[in-house]
Amino acid sequence: MDLSLFRCQPGKKLETYETVPPSGITKEEALARLDENRLKMAALQDKLYAERKNALLLILQGMDASGKDSAIKRVLTGLNPQGVEVTSFKAPTAAELEHDYMWRTSLALPPKGKIGVFNRSYYEDVLVVRVHGLVPGHGMGDKEFWRARCRQIRNHEEYLLENGVVPVKIFFHISKEEQARRLLKRIDDPGKNWKFDAADIKERAYWEDYQRAYQKAFESTSTDQIPWYLLPSDKKWYARFLLSEILVEELKRLRPEYPVVSEQKKEMLEHYRALLEQGR
Ligand code: AMP
Ligand code: MG
Repeated sequence: MDLSLFRCQPGKKLETYETVPPSGITKEEALARLDENRLKMAALQDKLYAERKNALLLILQGMDASGKDSAIKRVLTGLNPQGVEVTSFKAPTAAELEHDYMWRTSLALPPKGKIGVFNRSYYEDVLVVRVHGLVPGHGMGDKEFWRARCRQIRNHEEYLLENGVVPVKIFFHISKEEQARRLLKRIDDPGKNWKFDAADIKERAYWEDYQRAYQKAFESTSTDQIPWYLLPSDKKWYARFLLSEILVEELKRLRPEYPVVSEQKKEMLEHYRALLEQGR
């Protein structure tokens, strides 16, 4: 599958990216492929974990109800939980605010061998923080300030990549109408009531500002090496399928292999085989 179609392209406006799936794949086909990809991911993760050479950092961003949480649930199920660390970033605590903005996310970076998942990330610091002017003295329009933050993020990710932590950046792209449908479902479906947060309605009023902030963030942090993937997400089955395709490809690119067993270790294995076979 040609995933380059979903990579952020320079100069292309956010509103021109599709939120609906392309034609040519049915829900049934996508779900079957997702199942296959789960097995592939598990096999690749096993090697990643054994090798302990690289880590994968999956960064999930999107408006409220865009499907971040459920993608974690549905796509990553089947991986070895011991090799996965999920961290959700909410509004920072007083203690977190005493630090630089990437402090808390740095503490949560995955060690080599693991898959780290950031459900929201330091990108919030150029999104919600920008939209609501949460840094005193730096309003939404203070281009220089936000451009500098994006540069810091770009440099940070380049540093991570060069040190074996590979960022994979995913944006769940939904339409405003689809968000309304999902929020209504949270009101109408008793099983989803717990998910309803009045704050989501408040944030929805800033939809256009968020789209602008996302656009700016993508423009300056999507690179050839560490691109943003913009997933058409009005259909959850499609976004999940696509996420699984991206993860398989990104894991393959790391070429994880089981560690090579040294001659010395082989001799040791033979020694213990003999002992065990003698019934000890
Ligand atoms: P949820 O992902 O629905 O649990 O909501 C988490 C909320 O925390 C979202 O509204 C985010 O925008 C907000 N949030 C995350 N990071 C920050 C941040 N650095 N500053 C302010 N709000 C944040
Ligand atoms: Mg929310």
